[in-house]
Amino acid sequence: RTFKLKIHCRIDIHRLNAPFLAIYESLVPAEEEKAQQKQLLALLERLVCKEWPKARLYLYGSCASSFGVSRSDIDVCLAIDGGDINKSEILLRLADILQSDNLQNVQALTRARVPIVKLMDPVTGISCDICINNVLAVINTKLLRDYAQIDARLRQLAFIVKHWAKSRGVNETYQGTLSSYAYVIMCIHFLQQRRPAILPCLQEMEPTYSVTVDDIECAFFDQVGKLCDFGSRNKETIAQLVWAFFNYWAYRHDYANSVISVRTGSIISKQEKDWTRRIGNDRHLICIEDPFEVSHDLGRVVDKYSIKVLREEFERAAGIMQYDPNPCVKLFEPY
Ligand code: ATP
Ligand code: MG
Repeated sequence: RTFKLKIHCRIDIHRLNAPFLAIYESLVPAEEEKAQQKQLLALLERLVCKEWPKARLYLYGSCASSFGVSRSDIDVCLAIDGGDINKSEILLRLADILQSDNLQNVQALTRARVPIVKLMDPVTGISCDICINNVLAVINTKLLRDYAQIDARLRQLAFIVKHWAKSRGVNETYQGTLSSYAYVIMCIHFLQQRRPAILPCLQEMEPTYSVTVDDIECAFFDQVGKLCDFGSRNKETIAQLVWAFFNYWAYRHDYANSVISVRTGSIISKQEKDWTRRIGNDRHLICIEDPFEVSHDLGRVVDKYSIKVLREEFERAAGIMQYDPNPCVKLFEPY
C-alpha cells in the first residue's frame, strides 16, 4: 500500500510542474515594464540631482532583487550625505519638487516607521515609494538578488509563494501577517535546508563583498556566477518544492522553539536569541531572523490572532497540494 501511494503521489506531483511554471511565467514582468521602471528612475534622478547635486538614487525592494511580479510598485532610496540631515524636511521638499513636475498622488509620510514620499507616474501608471538613506535595505536587496542567480527554482518558488500570500490576504504587515521580504527569506532558508541543498549560505562563505552600515557588518560571498551549478545535484522540481514548502510551514516547523536563519544557513533556537517571550510588541510567534539586523525578527508583526490565520493558511495550502485535483487554481482562490 505504501508503495502504491508513493507512486501515486509522485505522478500527481509531476503533473503539476507545467502549470506551476506557467503561473510563474505569467507573473514575470515584461521587458517593456522593466524599461518603464528605468525611465521613471532616470526622471527622478534628474529631479533629485537638480536640488541635491551630490545625492544618489538606488533601486531596492522586489524590482531590484528580481522578486518583483508584474505591476509591482518600485522602491527607491535617496542616499544623501551629512550627519545632521533632517529627513522630514528633505521628504517635504522632495514632495514639492515631484508635484511641480506633474507626478501624481504625491504624499510625504514623514511619521511612518520608514518615512517615505509616495508618488505615481501618470504616463506609465507605476507607483513608487522613496525613502532616505535606508542603506541596509539596498544591501539586503543585493543579497536576495545574488541568491536568485544561483538557482532558478528560488525565483519560481518565491513568485508562487508571494502570489499565494497576496491571493489569500496573508501579505499584509499592518494586519499582522508577513511582508514579501519575509516570504522570500523563508524561501531562501527552505532551499538551504533541502538535501542535497539547493542554495548555499552566502554569509558563511569567504566574503567577497563587505560593507559596514550603522555598525552592522554586512559581508558575504557575492561571486555567484561561480555557484550556478550549486543546486544541480538536487533534482526536485518546482511542484515538489511548493508541496514541501507548505508542508514544512504547516507541519514541520517547530514554532515553539525554532528561529529560521538564512545568515547561518540553519535553524537556531529561540533560547539562544532570547526570543522566548513577548518583549514590548515583539511576540516571536513565528521567528524569522533578518540576515543583517540579527536582533530583528521579521515575524514580529505577527500577533496571537494572525498567527492562527497564518498557520491555518499554511495547512490549507498543504492540504490542497496533497489532495486537491486542481491545486494550481484552488491554492490561489481569493479568501
Ligand atoms: P513587493 O513585490 O510585494 O513590493 P518587496 O520585496 O518590494 O515586494 P517589501 O516587503 O515591501 O517588498 O520590502 C521592500 C524592501 O524593503 C525589501 O526588499 C527589503 O530590502 C526592505 N525591507 C522590507 N521589510 C524589511 C524589514 N522588516 N527589515 C529589513 N528590510 C526590510
Ligand atoms: Mg516593493
